[in-house]
Amino acid sequence: MDTKYFKIHTIADHIYHIEESAGACTSLIVGETQALLIDTGYGFEDLHKIVRGLTDLPLIVVNTHGHLDHTGGNYLFKEVYINYTDLPVYLWYQSVEKPKFLEKFKKDYGDKINDIWPEDFDENAYLNKKALHLVPLENHQQFDLGGRSVEAVFLPGHTKGSVVFLDHKSGLLFAGDDISKTVWIQFDHSATLEEYKSGLDRLRNYPITGIVTSHLTDVFPKHLIDWIMLAMMHAKPEKSRLFVHPRTGQKALFYREKVTGIENVHSIRLVYPGEVLVG
Ligand SMILES: [Zn+2]
Repeated sequence: MDTKYFKIHTIADHIYHIEESAGACTSLIVGETQALLIDTGYGFEDLHKIVRGLTDLPLIVVNTHGHLDHTGGNYLFKEVYINYTDLPVYLWYQSVEKPKFLEKFKKDYGDKINDIWPEDFDENAYLNKKALHLVPLENHQQFDLGGRSVEAVFLPGHTKGSVVFLDHKSGLLFAGDDISKTVWIQFDHSATLEEYKSGLDRLRNYPITGIVTSHLTDVFPKHLIDWIMLAMMHAKPEKSRLFVHPRTGQKALFYREKVTGIENVHSIRLVYPGEVLVG
């Protein structure tokens, strides 16, 4: 079932994590009557076809947040749910950031660019692709897939409109970019550290058995959340170094918290706003 551009990982019964060669993952949860697709990747290749190879059930499509690597393939689906708080971010990435991403990929990959998109990829057509129909997500909205339901939980952090999705049957939490080994919370459109911290604290009450992220294929234990909270407690400008975002040039602080007891996680890396102290 894998193709040159998509690798399919079965992470639980009827749950697939679809890894795109450009580095973004989307997740597909299949119920008895409907299926739920979480995020749509960059959309350089036909994700819809891949999903249809896995299920022919009616499909609900949701976005975890407005960034291009999660929403770029929205145009492939007739309707997509997104938290409207992230609409300005979504529109900014669709218009201003989209061409910059293409340039960055071409610069980084050079003559290997066809590892990312096919030879007949039409850049102009891609730049003009738009989502067909966006629908507002509600906090705690439940998607009944038949025999399992998935809950949308708003977790302002990485972006103000970030949403995580809990599959109540497996206990897996689909966290987008909101919870991972690297937490990017430095954007102008990120929530404050305080908001993020209190959201994480509320999330700890949920019966989570594992955390699935958008840029890795591991399933992490719930206590990754505790390590992130600890990292935020310890992160101070004097213990951090300067971080410059490679695409936007935005300056931020970078703090690393050493982690023990979680497979494949040696540290939590926190990129957060602030001034570097000199001396
Ligand atoms: Zn993101």
